[in-house]
Amino acid sequence: MSEATESGLLSTAKQGADTLLTLARSTCEQALSTHPPETPISFPTTSYQLPLFYSLIPSPVTTLGELSKALGGLTIGDDVGGIGTATALSAEAIEALAFLDDEKAAEETGFIPDNLIRQLGLPLVDGTIPGIAVIFGKAQKVDAVELVRGYQERGLLTMLVGPVIGQLEAAEVEMGAEVKLVPLGQGTAVALALDAAARIGLIFGNLPAGEAAQMADYIRGKVPAFLNLLGEQDPISSAVAVTCLAFGLPVVAERAFDDAGEVLVETEAEAMITASLKARSIAIVGERPDVPTPFGSAFEGERIRKADTHFQAGGGASVSFELLRMAPAEELTDGEVKLIGEDIDGTTPLHISPLAIIIRVGGDGMQEDFETVIERRIHDYLNYAMGQWHMGQRDINWIRISKEAYSAGLRLIHIGKILHNRIHRNFGKIVQAVEVDIITDQAKIKKLLPQARKVYHQRDLRLASLTDEAVQEFYSCTLCQSFAPIHVCVVTPERLGLCGSVSWLDARASYQILPEGGNKPITKEGVIDETLGEWESVNAFVRQASQNKLTRVCIYSLMEAPMTSCGCFEAILMVLPEANGVLVVNREFEGDTPLGLPFSTLAGNISGGVQTPGFMGISKRFLLSGKFIPAEGGLRRVVWLPEELKEFLGEELQARAEKMGMPDLIGKIATENEARTLEELITHLKKVEHPALGLEAIL
Ligand code: SF4
Ligand SMILES: [Zn+2]
Repeated sequence: MSEATESGLLSTAKQGADTLLTLARSTCEQALSTHPPETPISFPTTSYQLPLFYSLIPSPVTTLGELSKALGGLTIGDDVGGIGTATALSAEAIEALAFLDDEKAAEETGFIPDNLIRQLGLPLVDGTIPGIAVIFGKAQKVDAVELVRGYQERGLLTMLVGPVIGQLEAAEVEMGAEVKLVPLGQGTAVALALDAAARIGLIFGNLPAGEAAQMADYIRGKVPAFLNLLGEQDPISSAVAVTCLAFGLPVVAERAFDDAGEVLVETEAEAMITASLKARSIAIVGERPDVPTPFGSAFEGERIRKADTHFQAGGGASVSFELLRMAPAEELTDGEVKLIGEDIDGTTPLHISPLAIIIRVGGDGMQEDFETVIERRIHDYLNYAMGQWHMGQRDINWIRISKEAYSAGLRLIHIGKILHNRIHRNFGKIVQAVEVDIITDQAKIKKLLPQARKVYHQRDLRLASLTDEAVQEFYSCTLCQSFAPIHVCVVTPERLGLCGSVSWLDARASYQILPEGGNKPITKEGVIDETLGEWESVNAFVRQASQNKLTRVCIYSLMEAPMTSCGCFEAILMVLPEANGVLVVNREFEGDTPLGLPFSTLAGNISGGVQTPGFMGISKRFLLSGKFIPAEGGLRRVVWLPEELKEFLGEELQARAEKMGMPDLIGKIATENEARTLEELITHLKKVEHPALGLEAIL
């Protein structure tokens, strides 16, 4: 933790820490007067109970009695580290004690569930979310709306604590995880921001319990967060500032602090943003496109309801499609956006029109295979504009523009400007020219649609022919190493990265764009075992990329040296020896598996880049692959999966089973409707004669 310096800030902060610790102790004693000491205490939706106690002190705190003892033993000290630890733990205790008797309050707390932390892993490592802003207090000089919009525009995740939440509510700013603007609560809820930072370390970094120094180093080195402190200096805000400094998070305040040491001061929103990003070395790449609404990855999750819709295309209401093709760069005029047909000026709400978005890209590194890689990003890019919403792809896309965005001046022509801007920003190394046609002319669309469908069909054939055997090299992905330093994904044509977002083609394109980046080719050499999927060259790569922590990996097996898991996996695959099979559970499923444990608890066993035979993090679509654990018998080993996952995979899963010559297999796989316990599961499997029962013993 940081060096101790005697300053006005430290002594005020010490008073604040003292107030919080006294309050935490008295609240805990009060709870003990009506509850036995064995009463469990934990935030909901986490496997780390009280994550700050879990990671910062050596003895476990899972009950009221243990909490009381831990608080009793806390001393504040005079240095940054001591004050910070006492503040963080006291605030966390107060937050957790607040809902001891009130399950409803527990559900409403601003505590961020483990599953959401896992979901944030990928955007944090791939730069979609370049950082985390924590805003504390009540804005007096800085314009709070300008401040949060500034962060949203830059894609940051912003957490809000204190009266600033009410200020934004009054200004009718939409808040929530979907727009990356998360209200945590009042005062002590600042602990919930630290709880999130600590769990990045626990989940992805596989940090041990009770190692405060390791945790502080991890947060300082790897979690790109900082604090903006609004309002007057008082003991509590000083304690919050010192706590952040203790974990290496820079602090920028809007008012000059009395003898404030490392606290920076900025009195205007833009300047505060710039200073914060600089202090945390967060670089924002590229200019924003010229559009009249706020724009940034923070708006990606925003929904537009029908009642708020001004314009709509696709989604069954009209013909709509999108297509990206490569063309010789010299034939293209970079930046040209043509509108063929009418734009939406002067239209009335819920205007529906046919729409085609045709993009032509050209450049030295462009290959036909990369057309789909870039085309798939249309979805993200269009969603970045506030008030514009995109779903689906190809000729089943669906686009909406909200009334508010229409009033602000957003038009269809801006779709072209956005795509031109983002494609350059993300693919500029392989694409030098981008042209976009936005077409609303019915006759023209009718003529182009069959041609587009022909291209989609050819691409499907090409994808189907891309098997592991058909290629010379696989690709590594080590993007997640920024949080899980020893994790390596091996991405093959038939195996997506476990986050579900990096395909073999994606990895290949990324390598072209940035050869020194997170994806590298691994030539298949020195086959050791075809069935297990083990190659000397792959082993050599993972050994070096995992700093010798991993000596071998069998990419076709769950039981023998399986792939490691970082933490952002979409689903868990896990052996069930009692059923001679495996179960699969996806991150969205909130219920218990037949083992009596939910996803979040099981996930705790396989994170952090550790190899755990019998357990593996996977992408949901991996179940559809011809290379889904062939060493253990493939899909016929799956004995249980949640109904929603079965539905999500739908016809494709059925088609896969048919291809294996087992058309009735999917119907035999139990869901939570057939089996909630291991006993029920085994009874079900026997009743339907599930093929796993006849396979060789899995253990
Ligand atoms: S493929 Fe693996 S390493 Fe790469 S981003 Fe996805 S989970 Fe992380
Ligand atoms: Zn990951």
